[in-house]
Amino acid sequence: MPTSTTIQLNGKEVAVPTGIFLDNEWRDAADSSTFEVLNPANGQPIATVAHAKQADVDAAVASSRKAFKSTWGLHAGPEERARLLNKLADLMERDIQFLAELESLNGGKGVRIARDMDLADSIACLRYYAGWAGKVAGETIETSSTKLAYTLLEPIGVCGQIIPWNYPVMMWAWKIAPALAAGCTIVMKPSELTPLTALALCNLIAEAGYPAGVVNVVPGLGTTAGAAIAEHLKIDKVAFTGSVATGRRIMEAAAKSNLKKVTLELGGKSPSLVFPSADLEEAANWSALGIFYNSGQDCTAGSRILVHEDVHDAFVEKFAEKARACAIGNPLDESTSFGPLISGPQRDKVLGYIAAGTEQGATIVTGGKKWQEDNGGFYIEPTILTGCKPGMKVVDEEIFGPVCSIIKFSSEEEAIEMANDSIYGLAAGCFTSDAKQAMRVSRGLSAGTVWVNNYGLLSNAVPFGGMRQSGIGRELGRQGVYEYCSSKSVLHNI
Ligand code: NAD
Repeated sequence: MPTSTTIQLNGKEVAVPTGIFLDNEWRDAADSSTFEVLNPANGQPIATVAHAKQADVDAAVASSRKAFKSTWGLHAGPEERARLLNKLADLMERDIQFLAELESLNGGKGVRIARDMDLADSIACLRYYAGWAGKVAGETIETSSTKLAYTLLEPIGVCGQIIPWNYPVMMWAWKIAPALAAGCTIVMKPSELTPLTALALCNLIAEAGYPAGVVNVVPGLGTTAGAAIAEHLKIDKVAFTGSVATGRRIMEAAAKSNLKKVTLELGGKSPSLVFPSADLEEAANWSALGIFYNSGQDCTAGSRILVHEDVHDAFVEKFAEKARACAIGNPLDESTSFGPLISGPQRDKVLGYIAAGTEQGATIVTGGKKWQEDNGGFYIEPTILTGCKPGMKVVDEEIFGPVCSIIKFSSEEEAIEMANDSIYGLAAGCFTSDAKQAMRVSRGLSAGTVWVNNYGLLSNAVPFGGMRQSGIGRELGRQGVYEYCSSKSVLHNI
């Protein structure tokens, strides 16, 4: 099978890699098997990609282990690690339009958003962690007058990184940047639904000058390539972003194999609270962004909005206006902000949730069905349901689509209790103009991130991660790079 293919991208023919990236070269799967990648905007095939299995993952791990011991790990100093991350960021900047179009074609998000948000943030993430390469430091500890102790923070080793389809480039950057800054080597598995940008970025990794084996990429299915990473005896850590069910499997595999370190960024059912003093126009704007951004396929999607009874109707009216104003269309059009869902099964799952919602007593205020002009793609209209209550499927379960459930409340205590009544604890929002209430509610909400009078702000400098079944560990910020370090204590007798 050839390890690249020619695709049509905005009227131009471009070559994109479709192989396994190992030792800075492209190769076919050991058993030559492949899988097909679809365009979610029309359901048509885009490319056929090599399907890595156990033998390919073994080869990738051996290569990453060799690089860790010989050219990377403790062998590449912090200046070199920073220089290469900045160089990779420069190359991404140079190719940003191509990468954004590929991300848009494969993942269905609007090309403007892919370029100005996902790619721009990913480039910034690489630069942010370039800055950390020389700043990861241990401590000195005085133990007695004749003894000296200090800790060294060393790179963990070979890291398996398994990422989802909803932010293919951003999740790649969030994983790869801190690991490379810390000195780890990487065996990365992109989602089988959206492998194309992660593969295209491999060419930039080689061009930047990373030594062979520092980053290997094994496209494949979760049950083959993904499971082989999770179970691998020679992988020291696995960093995963995806669903709770898969996170559980990865933890089990890690426990049964070599007790490798596991960090998990999982799902959510994030609540957002709208109090009577809130600026309702602002609350509606942020809430629409919170649930309709990326067509609701966001782990932090603000999918449960709890609204005080005094402002419920006024808020719903404004929020519905924003939903109806979403720019649905072809992802490759600059004006599109709302694209298709990633796949047919995902679209059907979301439609099933909407049906369950109405069967359990919810009312559809707007949306609720496939987009009329969907042209074989997987579009669902932005959907708002009112009359929702805890215990309903649309309130309790992660939908991962553009569906928002509105729940009425009458007191702050009741709202906080309902907000925290979830297996998840990834994010939460609060809209109020009462500063004391904002502080009280922020403390009361049990979530890894709380947004006050906004929904969805992120910064590379601010840790991100979940409580309860939303995950283990943190990405971004200082904690993000420390998750890729092992602490070694050295005690001297002097
Ligand atoms: P998923 O769990 O189905 O797949 C995620 C990745 O895991 C894919 O690469 C997949 O191939 C792989 N995988 C599947 N089975 C595997 C197995 N047995 N062993 C190893 N790897 C396996 O999730 P998804 O459908 O791609 O993504 C949606 C989910 O991801 C949602 O639940 C969402 O909330 C979550 N998510 C979380 C965050 C976060 O930062 N917390 C960010 C994005 C998405």
